[in-house]
Amino acid sequence: MGYPAIPLTRSRFDTVRRSFWIGGAWRDPVAGRDGPGTAVLDPSGRGAVGRVPLGEAADVSAAVDAARTAFPVWAAADAGERRALLHAIAVGITNREADFARLISAEMGAPVDNALTTQTRLAAEVFTSYAEILDGHAWEERIGTSQVVQEPVGVVAAITPWNYPLYLIAAKVAAALAAGCTVVLKPSGDAPLNAFLLAEVIAEATAEVGAPGGVFNLISGSGRTVGAALVSAPGVDAVSFTGSTEAGRAVAAAAAGTVKGLGLELGGKSARVILADEPDGTEVTGLEEAVRAALADVFYNSGQTCTSCSRVLVPDGLYDEVVRLAVEEAAKWRLGDPALPGNHIGPIATSAQFDSVLTHIDQATAQGARLVAGGRASREDIPEGLVEGYWVLPTVFAEVTNDMAIAREEIFGPVVCLMRYRDEQEALWIANDSIYGLAGAVWCANHSRAERFARQIRAGLVTVNNGEFNVRAPTGGYKQSGVGRELGVHGLHHFMETKTIQW
Ligand code: NAD
Repeated sequence: MGYPAIPLTRSRFDTVRRSFWIGGAWRDPVAGRDGPGTAVLDPSGRGAVGRVPLGEAADVSAAVDAARTAFPVWAAADAGERRALLHAIAVGITNREADFARLISAEMGAPVDNALTTQTRLAAEVFTSYAEILDGHAWEERIGTSQVVQEPVGVVAAITPWNYPLYLIAAKVAAALAAGCTVVLKPSGDAPLNAFLLAEVIAEATAEVGAPGGVFNLISGSGRTVGAALVSAPGVDAVSFTGSTEAGRAVAAAAAGTVKGLGLELGGKSARVILADEPDGTEVTGLEEAVRAALADVFYNSGQTCTSCSRVLVPDGLYDEVVRLAVEEAAKWRLGDPALPGNHIGPIATSAQFDSVLTHIDQATAQGARLVAGGRASREDIPEGLVEGYWVLPTVFAEVTNDMAIAREEIFGPVVCLMRYRDEQEALWIANDSIYGLAGAVWCANHSRAERFARQIRAGLVTVNNGEFNVRAPTGGYKQSGVGRELGVHGLHHFMETKTIQW
């Protein structure tokens, strides 16, 4: 596109960051290279693993200006040029996947195997999926005498959390770039290092394909300062936010001032319903597998998956059997050093999250739930070679009822709630009795019954039996779990404006 290639120094796998990626160059914060910064802490107790600058409102303005400057050029780029950039970013992530995995593991505690496969490779796949979507995508349609045209919305503010940091960034950045938008990203302050490495990858990709450097801009800082300034900046056209429902409400209120388009991916408290083979019968085909899948869903990533189904609903007649199986299954899960390969459970990602999970565990016992596995970790539970960290054992509570705080609030830790139901109508009622509607799951050997039940769950993503996650299909929340959808072709909509030209 006639843009000069940007001279780049190849990465040093830098974890001490002193500048922001703005307008195609590493730029010092307005407070200077040695201005305020924040340490990035390893949650397995190894101390600081890096540092990023704490930006301020003037940094936000510089990043938004750069994105605005790049917008008309990128909006005019054809599908082939956009595809080339998305593909180059996917390749760049893949080339450096070991670096990404090590970084993510160190900054948020995911065991390296998880950090490589789910966290990093899934992110690369999201970029690839959008390159594919652009192949033959229909941007226009004729409706009677009108030509209906899809156009990029403009400059997008992307604000992301720490639990699947790179993948959740990819879900926004890939879709926005595919749509022809330019982006200012503010990643989580708890796991920002992967975003700085991504900026290096995007820097190389833009240079390689000749895209304007300002298509992607990165600043770091607190949600209250940098996040809030970004959301209310007049130069930002749309906000795409993933995080807690509480912060999502604040973002929605701030975005209202300038009437911005808003995509919100928020919290959840999802239910998994184990159905008997016959309506309200007492046989469940594959019950052991059902319990294994239920626990794996909640223990993976230390329970820090927004779509995990932590309320497990079980027919009354099978309840004691399921509790026994769950206790057996939980005992197979081990805490382990995230720096080591394996399918163990890492620590909770942050100190605040750790305190919140422990508070929920204590509160559950006080409210009458029965702790049947796990709970607070003791010193002896800390994996070998480590002395500290935010460790919570894989935990199962029985006799949970839907009025208890652990059934109503998002815990975001490895805590399973086993709940009884009398008949399927009650199961459905309990599943939907939540302010959230992010996900759900059904286990049933009879596929048509499973599908009927899945259709009645008021949530954006429902898994049947061992159904697999698909980055080409949309995800998002009903109710207070969010607004809009991410991923796949539906994920483009938030980044597009629709124009009708009538003749
Ligand atoms: P968080 O809400 O504390 O922070 C998310 C991001 O928002 C961070 O970058 C933070 O700095 C920023 N932020 C906070 N307050 C802000 C404000 N007032 N204005 C602008 N930005 C602000 O969430 P977290 O603790 O990082 O992540 C965990 C939460 O994210 C959980 O609730 C989880 O369910 C949710 N989540 C949802 C999805 C989904 O797809 N629905 C996916 C992953 C995580």
